[in-house]
Amino acid sequence: MTKIKHNDLSCKKNTVAHVYYVPASVQYTTDRELFVLETILGHRTYPFLSRFKIHGVVGVKSCENFPAETLRYTGAFARLLNKNEQFAFLCNTSNQHLDYKSHGIVCAYRALDACAISGEYIPFMTLDGIYGEHEISRKNHRDLEADVYLAGELPNLDGVVSVCCFAPSMEMSVCGSIINLGQGLASKKGKIHQRTTSCPQVNVKKCYACRRCVRECPSHAIAIVDGHVAIDSRKCIKCGKCVEIAYYGGITYDWNATPEHYYESVARHAKGVLSVLAHKVVCVNIIMSGNGNGSSFSGAMVSLDPVAVDCATLDFCENHQLLPLESVQCGRGQVNAAHSAGVGNIKYKIQTVAY
Ligand code: SF4
Repeated sequence: MTKIKHNDLSCKKNTVAHVYYVPASVQYTTDRELFVLETILGHRTYPFLSRFKIHGVVGVKSCENFPAETLRYTGAFARLLNKNEQFAFLCNTSNQHLDYKSHGIVCAYRALDACAISGEYIPFMTLDGIYGEHEISRKNHRDLEADVYLAGELPNLDGVVSVCCFAPSMEMSVCGSIINLGQGLASKKGKIHQRTTSCPQVNVKKCYACRRCVRECPSHAIAIVDGHVAIDSRKCIKCGKCVEIAYYGGITYDWNATPEHYYESVARHAKGVLSVLAHKVVCVNIIMSGNGNGSSFSGAMVSLDPVAVDCATLDFCENHQLLPLESVQCGRGQVNAAHSAGVGNIKYKIQTVAY
């Protein structure tokens, strides 16, 4: 069995990061959960997880690009940590981008789904409040060039396990570890800032001037002018509250961020997360092959370095033609931006965990 040394786990800048590849076990290919528990989570990779304090409070965060499978794995991770006398729970944050909105209650339903799969109770916590109102701003933090807005509970955690799936059913985008940290652990406002560079727009055909947004805007940026809602872009902080309130589409965002803006902003938020949880984030990328529900494991990449683990996963997927080329290219755009922002190492050394 391959031994993993604790000092292998560091991810200092401009060094070579260590990534562990856990290949799928032949005898477990028909039982995915057993594979995860026995092979990825068992004693072979426990050194990663044992870096967290005993009895630590550990959030297990899944990406949402492949919900059924990722929920299954995040649930498995939480259960294993709990068996090892830590307090692990599923966690998520509020979201608002494009046509997609979710808040703590929606996330809690998804967590209940994960329990339904396993048949076991797994605690769940929303990290930025039910409606995304609980955040920390890393404004002018010494390591960060610009503002980031992160989920408010992050400083209270002893660690995070990030679980992502790379599956052929993903058509255009890859939600790797960098995105799962940078976007997934940003507050709702952080996510909005990643997806747009402008403040919300009023659609006069759908706005009934009910004035609720005027009352609830935290920065008093909204007024009624000539009978219509008007937003003062100099005061707007892009918190998304008015968009949430305008149920019928009276106020909407123009999701105009370019891929470069998005990658750079996600990278900045990922760096913010790592500055809050230094050396307390384990990234696990689960690689699938085949299609949709018929997917099967190809293995998993594990590292403390989100850039290296995404890079290694993309290289693996490209070499084995497991993802569409567009997905790999999107992933590379994110990896390069995160590397430039100093989130982690693009150079990695891969070590196969034998069994
Ligand atoms: S996004 Fe927030 S700050 Fe801007 S107008 Fe709407 S409620 Fe006010």
